[in-house]
Amino acid sequence: MRVHFLTFAFVLLITPGAHAQVPAMTPNQALGREILAELIGINTTREHGSTTPAAEAVARRLVAAGFPAADVQVVGPTEKDKNLVARLRGTGKRRPILLLAHLDVVEALRSDWSMDPFTLTEQNGYFYGRGTSDIKDMAAIFVATLIRLKREGVALDRDLILALESGEETDGGGIRWLLAERRDLIDAEYCINGDAGDPLLQNGRPVVRSVQASEKVYHDVQLEVHNPGGHSSLPVPDNAIYRLAAALQRLAAFHFPPSLNPVTRAYFERVAETQPPDIAADMRALLRDVPDSAAVERLSQRSPLFNSILRTTCVATRLDAGHANNALPQTARAVVNCRMLPQDPVERVEAMLRSVVADTAVAVIPIDTPTPSPPSPITPEVFGPLERITHQLWPGVPIIPSMETGATDGLFLRNAGMPVYGVSAVFMEADDIRAHGRDERIGVREYYAGLEFTYRFVKALVTR
Ligand SMILES: [Zn+2]
Repeated sequence: MRVHFLTFAFVLLITPGAHAQVPAMTPNQALGREILAELIGINTTREHGSTTPAAEAVARRLVAAGFPAADVQVVGPTEKDKNLVARLRGTGKRRPILLLAHLDVVEALRSDWSMDPFTLTEQNGYFYGRGTSDIKDMAAIFVATLIRLKREGVALDRDLILALESGEETDGGGIRWLLAERRDLIDAEYCINGDAGDPLLQNGRPVVRSVQASEKVYHDVQLEVHNPGGHSSLPVPDNAIYRLAAALQRLAAFHFPPSLNPVTRAYFERVAETQPPDIAADMRALLRDVPDSAAVERLSQRSPLFNSILRTTCVATRLDAGHANNALPQTARAVVNCRMLPQDPVERVEAMLRSVVADTAVAVIPIDTPTPSPPSPITPEVFGPLERITHQLWPGVPIIPSMETGATDGLFLRNAGMPVYGVSAVFMEADDIRAHGRDERIGVREYYAGLEFTYRFVKALVTR
């Protein structure tokens, strides 16, 4: 996934820290680079590749590093779509934690790119290649972290599980298969997902680390009108297209009521500290026991992102009606795509849609069954080390818990009762997000800093 979703500028009210200083390549960095190069070199697209060779390459590396073969599994729904699941054992004093990234990538054509997308190319301070930012960088960093912890003989008080999944870019098949068939391999107290949460640079300077602790819930609904129709030379007042259009007009004018959950509450508290005084005041006003409704409306109008964080949204995305140019329409349909706040039950959202449509001739029909995805608690066990280690490497950079307005694989784990924290380690320029596009890249310096960050952060989570 990895789509940049912070569509507004952060105004820096803090003194930015300098870039983490990265000296000449250390052995750990050399290892991190080697693993990244190996993963980029394996085509893991659904169209022309397979995740299985990439999972096997990682398995070989871990076994060579001393992991027992039984703790390194290559398993999955099909021969082409295998996942890698590995376990670094601890004392078992606490429940395991799960590190998650995906091995599959979106198609990339050599003819579209300036270089071979399936060869890691280092050029002018960047690593280029399909998957460098989505999300083989984090897959490689997690593998290097496991090997480093093993090599250093760090005493873990809990097992550390790594899952590198298949199918994330298509159907979520890898993680769904693991949950259904091999929950034993990945069962953990919580998950750190490398494929969510955006640490962002502006003009080369780190400005924010957002941590995805919640996501909205996807739901499609169809509005449908039927009518006897007839010859278009003899129009009658009751017309399927007009009825549907009128219902859509009412929907266009409607806003779901604003609602906060613990994650979005923390989000606005923290973001307020980075904003100009008027926006900050509005954010604080919406955090009051009785939210200031004028402030809510100003923020909603200021940014589609704020609006989407504050409420469930349902928007018309497709329209289909009529069967001939010279006939009155017998059917008119619209697809309405809802992104529901995790605290808004689907029954309530559908009931509100029906009351907004306000016409029993317009049927409101669910197209899919949404997967609930409860927000993950903002626990000090995760956020304590996260803040401390972020500030060691990037002093002054704010850590902002966030609710993703799209949807990620995290929802399957959240729905299965496992909290998920999206913590990507590699800072990226806010205006240079190339995931799924041509000449995908990450900064070399940012990659090595992310490698060191992840090692320190994960180590803090598995030791006491
Ligand atoms: Zn991704």
